[in-house]
Amino acid sequence: MELIFHLCMISLLLLSSSKSTTAADSSSSSSSSSSEIISRFQKYLQINTAQPSPQYQEAADFILSEANSLSLESQTLEFVPGKPLILLKWPGSDPSLPSILLNSHTDVVPAEHDKWAHPPFSAHVDPHGKIYARGSQDMKCVGMQYLEAIRRLKASGFKPTRTVYLSFVPDEEIGGHDGAEKFAESDIFKALNVGIVLDEGLASPSENYRAFYAERCPWWLIIKATGAPGHGSKLYDNSAMENILKSIESVRRFRASQFDLVKAGLKAEGEVVSVNMAFLKAGTPSPTGFVMNLQPSEAEAGFDIRIPPTADQESLEKRIAEEWAPSSRNMTFRLGQFKQKASVLDNSGRPVLTATDSTNPWWALLEEAVKKADGKLGKPEIFPASTDARYFRLQGLPAIGFSPMANTPILLHDHNEFLNKDEYLKGISIYESIIKSYSSYAEHARTATWRDEL
Ligand SMILES: [Zn+2]
Repeated sequence: MELIFHLCMISLLLLSSSKSTTAADSSSSSSSSSSEIISRFQKYLQINTAQPSPQYQEAADFILSEANSLSLESQTLEFVPGKPLILLKWPGSDPSLPSILLNSHTDVVPAEHDKWAHPPFSAHVDPHGKIYARGSQDMKCVGMQYLEAIRRLKASGFKPTRTVYLSFVPDEEIGGHDGAEKFAESDIFKALNVGIVLDEGLASPSENYRAFYAERCPWWLIIKATGAPGHGSKLYDNSAMENILKSIESVRRFRASQFDLVKAGLKAEGEVVSVNMAFLKAGTPSPTGFVMNLQPSEAEAGFDIRIPPTADQESLEKRIAEEWAPSSRNMTFRLGQFKQKASVLDNSGRPVLTATDSTNPWWALLEEAVKKADGKLGKPEIFPASTDARYFRLQGLPAIGFSPMANTPILLHDHNEFLNKDEYLKGISIYESIIKSYSSYAEHARTATWRDEL
């Protein structure tokens, strides 16, 4: 039902589908010097696509002109007016094989300009080669690296066996509902016959690149306590404040037990359930602050919980109902915004994660391709927050989060986000190797076959 509604909203524009010519390829590709590559990256970074009012049209125009220079086929999809999704295609010689999808989002989070050493949309390169810009790590780097890698592959005369698609999607930073979510659910997406999705990862302060095979699912929990109001001097049981404090104490103990596992090195951050209190709402306001001699009849606390797909959801639900918000203490709770199980399990009821063992050939190919390009890959991880990759995994597809940034501090959403130009250039070689390997993989195992074994 939802799908039909979405399809009505789509305006499909075939902007160009010109055949590549050898002349165009060689002039735009082989002559690319490092400075030209960096200058193209800067141009993309200089487009202010910060939420809440991203310049999507400018970004779309830029991507389309790049696609044109690479003779890629392009489409602009608008699942929601004013929020263009650019879909590019590099046709493979065997269209019967499932395709490769390289996804990236075009929007970025806002920046507090006065807290930056260089304006966040200037893409200033300092004497050490650091490129300062909002989006330099998250994730305009990756979007451009895909394109630069294709530019090099085309220049070398490489021809893909599988079709390679690139999607530049809007709105990831505000949940992706009008971007990747609608795209992944659309008939247009189904027709692409995607076999593997690559999406964003995180920078790595060490020499090892990081790759993510799953992500934690957010639950937003609001606990409400009610109780008899009373004079501030009176001691009695079951006041709203007493009960909410008991809950907070119980949540705090659970939080510490999870955090201890991380501190002891037994689990990675993405493998535990995190709980953080987001708000506490209680008290009776007065013109000067709060009424002090009154115990209020209501109190509320909000928590941001992140659950790995490997966690036991049912036991957590039980814990919430029995320990954190028991009705015996006059407490109620609601889980806001996010659907509970839909996000932890895919459409077939399996945990939303991508296999990183022999059942998933794409994982081994990634490892091999990174190595071939002189990169090192760390142990696969669960992403601590959410990305658009979850919408593709919900469709039952394998999706790997990977942003090739080693030796780089994690500055996404932070002030002074930067990426060193040498790391950026290295990342292009890494993608060149991955795209070459993925698009040449001719094994005729249909994706669904191995997916069923997950
Ligand atoms: Zn991102």
